[in-house]
Parts: sequence; structure tokens; C-alpha cells
Amino acid sequence: RLVLGIETSCDDTGAAVLDETGSILGESLHSQKEVHLSAGGIIPTVAQHLHRENIQRVVQEALERSGVHPSQLAAVATTVKPGLALSLGIGLEFSQRFVRQHNKPFIPIHHMEAHALTVRMLHPVAFPFLVLLISGGHSLLAVARGVDDFLLLGHTLDEAPGDILDKVARRLSLIKHPQCSTLSGGQAIELLAKNGDRRRVEQGSLLSCVNDLAAATQHTIASHLAKRTHRAILFCKDNGLLPSSTPTLVLSGGVASNQYIRKALTIITETTGLRLLCPPAKFCTDNGVMIAWNGVERLRESKGILPPHVDVRYEPRAPLGVDMSAEVRAAG
Ligand code: ATP
Ligand code: FE
Repeated sequence: RLVLGIETSCDDTGAAVLDETGSILGESLHSQKEVHLSAGGIIPTVAQHLHRENIQRVVQEALERSGVHPSQLAAVATTVKPGLALSLGIGLEFSQRFVRQHNKPFIPIHHMEAHALTVRMLHPVAFPFLVLLISGGHSLLAVARGVDDFLLLGHTLDEAPGDILDKVARRLSLIKHPQCSTLSGGQAIELLAKNGDRRRVEQGSLLSCVNDLAAATQHTIASHLAKRTHRAILFCKDNGLLPSSTPTLVLSGGVASNQYIRKALTIITETTGLRLLCPPAKFCTDNGVMIAWNGVERLRESKGILPPHVDVRYEPRAPLGVDMSAEVRAAG
């Protein structure tokens, strides 16, 4: 059974065709990152326009590369929540027209569920496992108990780590830095931090340079994430939420490619006896493959499969699973 996945929740237009084992038969991705980088942030109407311009071609490309005709598909899976309303709308509108035209079942996808499940396409990771998702728009810790069964242990109360990195990079005008002109904020900060000394910033030294500020920012984010993850692991252990054999922490999202942050989390998982898994960078960021994979997982379990004519709405804000964050905070 073949699934077409479509992603337009933020600034990537992605599509992919997967078979039931998770083999990628064909994929296509159009990134708007450069446009948004030069504008200093994502302007929703610009993102919408670019999705509209590219979606037809991206889906066509994924199908052609896979050699699959729409009639051969078992279902179409598309991100419908959470994300930018104008961006989600384009993917959903396209998909609903597509499934009606070809009379195919439709599987609405939660973008964060897809991020969390991607790892299972690559490794045989059984439920339940702990997952930390850190990106430009999100920061959350959850226990994945099943394909559509999540316990939300915590999420950012203000800004996501990638957003902070991007804002700091903008304030430091890193785009004008000779080594950073084509890098995202997070990549620029990781690069400069290598030659920085965060202690000079912490001591308020007037000699602090941009490298030091990058190192201090990166360290602050890494140590915060490490502390919160440590607390989540202890909560899971106290409440029997993870299996005793090979308990696993899955790390994903664009910020997960940061080696310094990974190191900090490695220390936490090593000291608490967890295995740390992180999909390769191309699967940590937004793409059509993870949406198709989520569709495969749902198809296998017959969860959330809709007939083509059902009207589906997009939801810009949609928490993942049952929110337990108050209990986690209360447990210290
Ligand atoms: P979301 O997936 O939450 O909707 P998004 O599209 O912004 O949002 P991603 O594409 O997963 O998320 O990640 C982009 C973010 O990752 C950016 O904020 C970028 O600065 C950050 N990032 C990319 N590379 C690195 C790195 N090496 N270190 C730290 N952050 C990084
Ligand atoms: Fe994402």
C-alpha cells in the first residue's frame, strides 16, 4: 500500500511517496528558507504565495520520481495542524481537491506527531519512548505511547529554541558576517560558538566578542534543555512511563542538528541509562517524507482515515496529546 504525504505547515513545500515498509519511492522539497532569511523572518502571506506557486509541481515531482500513478495510492496524508494558517490552507486545499479527483482516502496529520514518529521509519523503536522536539516553532517533551497516543510532559511557555537562535543571530547581524551569510541563525551561532568563550559573557567582560555571545547563547539553551529533559526522564521513571529494557529518548527538529546541544543531551541520557536516537538532519527538519510515514503508520492501524468527501479544517494551534505538564512541574 502506497501513501502520498504532503507538508506545507510552515516554510517548506514537501511531498513524498512511501510504501508500507517506509521505503521512499520518490520525494520533492521546495524550501523557502532563503527568501525568509533575506526578509529577516517568515511573512505569512509570502509563505502562502510560495506554497501556492510550488505545491502542484512538488507533488507532481514526487509522484513522477516514484513512478506511481495517483490511482495506485492507498491514501493521501497531509499536515493540517499546527502551523501557519495561510500555509496549512494551501496544502489542505490542494489535498482535498486531489483526493476527491482520484477518490482516495484522506489522512489529516498532526505535524508534531509526524516529527515524533519519523524515527520509526529508520530504526525499530517500539512504543513507548520519550521524545524531545526542538525547532524554530516548537519545543516539547512528550511520551509517545502509540501512533496517535501522546502524553505531553512539557512545552515552551514563550519561545522555541530555534526562534531564539534566529533572533539573537539577527540582533548580531550575523547575516553580514563573512562566514555566515548563507546560514540559518542556529547554524551561524553553532559555527561562531566554536571560537567563543561563554565565560567572558557571564563575567560581563567588556572584551566579549560576537563569538563569545554565540557560545553563551548556545550554552544557555543547551543547559536549559538538558535540565528539562532530565526532569522529564525522572518523571517517566517515577511513573513507570518508559520500558525498563532500552528506554529511549528520541531527539528531533531543526535544532537537534546542533552538536553542542546533542552533547548536553548525551550526558543526560548516559547518566540516566537511556538510549539517545536522532534521525539524520534531513529528516529532523520539515519534509513530505515524515508526513507520508505518519500516514503509513495510521493506515496500518486504521486510525483517522477519512473518505475523500469529508470536509477537514486546518488548526493553526493544536497541542500534541494529553497535557501532563502541570503534573510534571508539580513533581519538581
Ligand atoms: P517547525 O518545524 O517548528 O514548524 P521550523 O520550520 O522553523 O519550525 P525546522 O526547519 O525544524 O523548524 O528548524 C529550523 C530551526 O532550526 C531554525 O530556527 C534554525 O535556526 C535552527 N537550526 C538549524 N540548524 C541548527 C544548528 N546547527 N544549531 C541550532 N539550531 C539550528
Ligand atoms: Fe517542523
